[in-house]
Amino acid sequence: MAKIQAPVQKNQVIDVEFEDLTHDGNAVAKVEGYPLFVAGALPGETGRIQVTKINKGYGFGRLMELFERSPHRVDVPAADMHKYGGTQLQHISYEGQLQFKEKQVREVLTRIGKLEDVKVHPVLGMKEPWYYRNKAQVPVGEKNGKLIAGFFKPRSHEIVDTNESIIQLPEVNEAIQTVKEICSEFGIKAYDEVTHKGMLRHIMARYGKQTGELMVVLITRTADFPHKEQIVKEIIKRLPRVKSIVHNINSKRTNVIMGDVTKVIWGSEVIYDYIGDVKFVISARSFYQVNPVQTKVLYDKALEYAGLTGNEAVIDAYCGIGTISLFLAQKAKSVFGVEVVPEAIEDAKRNAELNGIHNVEFAVGKAEDVISEWYKQGNKANVLVVDPPRKGCDESLLQTIIDMKPTKVVYVSCNPATLARDLRILEDGGYKTMEVQPVDMFPQTTHVECCSLLIRKDK
Ligand code: SAH
Repeated sequence: MAKIQAPVQKNQVIDVEFEDLTHDGNAVAKVEGYPLFVAGALPGETGRIQVTKINKGYGFGRLMELFERSPHRVDVPAADMHKYGGTQLQHISYEGQLQFKEKQVREVLTRIGKLEDVKVHPVLGMKEPWYYRNKAQVPVGEKNGKLIAGFFKPRSHEIVDTNESIIQLPEVNEAIQTVKEICSEFGIKAYDEVTHKGMLRHIMARYGKQTGELMVVLITRTADFPHKEQIVKEIIKRLPRVKSIVHNINSKRTNVIMGDVTKVIWGSEVIYDYIGDVKFVISARSFYQVNPVQTKVLYDKALEYAGLTGNEAVIDAYCGIGTISLFLAQKAKSVFGVEVVPEAIEDAKRNAELNGIHNVEFAVGKAEDVISEWYKQGNKANVLVVDPPRKGCDESLLQTIIDMKPTKVVYVSCNPATLARDLRILEDGGYKTMEVQPVDMFPQTTHVECCSLLIRKDK
């Protein structure tokens, strides 16, 4: 193998100046033009790093000591957390995080989308950007004969016992910790992925912030569950909010968390929650947004951009369990939701019924196929909402939109890069991007969600 040419070597310790922050939250230090990515540092800071990896064209380093601190730096309770919990931005002031996300959206829209003059609003952030997640599913291990649960160390299978995650609701932290302690007290063995032995693989907790209802899911390798009755009794006693205790069996050697067999072992099969006035049913397996406060902010923006008067036919592509569809249905003539996962569509129908919303229809299938077929049959929408996964919209769906010519397109996106790519295609097909509103759904992490409004140029 040819030796990689770099001005630094692995394990070398050097003093550097940090210049920039990448989209995944690493600071960049350049040595003779060769970039080194370092977690936990900030632009404008200087410090000492150790080189950990050398690649062709770039490398990685570990921050050892800081000399000059950025005014945006904040001290955090768990200084090491960014390594484990996916909270890569927690050492930046919240104001600094919001600026970082706004800048990132602007840059990507210009660079990838060639959208020079589009109006990007300041990011809508949270008042309290900590302890917001309503769900956690944590792997379980053992240390000194006791159960531990928390995050995997990056690039390893070592579990770091974590009693408190700074981005999970206190009720969720409490539930995970309590269930772990109870199972430990009853001598439950943790699953060992190397030997494929042991029992408890993951503990999951979900909390309905508006209803105060808690669900606990115990995911085990074996169907057999020793001390089940006593464990359930203790959970109910120590976690009075619990409404549902579920046992999921996953006997496969796999990274997938849940297995195919799900049994309710105590209480209800589901819990409920509200976003705004819309009530949602949540089962152990269903998808539900993890930041309920900001979800409302995002959907309100989508609704505002849709500008509904009550006469519109609306399509909600990539509708999941119908969250946006049901929000829109309250103001539209009709809504047609499309989603590829059949179980999600079942939940969507159940949610429509639960709320007495009748002007909405749901179909299972790929958005690109179902909507194109629907259009060929002579149907048309005035407003089209898309909320695709990270890879963005299928190009044929964008073509169908361009042909169908809905007056407005509201594009909700969790990935600015694919948003920029798709906005360019829609612009070339006759749309103008009027404005982009980033919303911070995941404070302390590098993720940013955007809601964009497009209008047909000939309207
Ligand atoms: N709008 C929903 C869900 C958005 S997540 C909400 O806010 O809750 C994106 C959704 O797109 C997922 O539910 C995923 O299953 C679905 N999906 C992925 N590819 C798809 C495709 N080609 N057609 C339709 N839905 C798809």
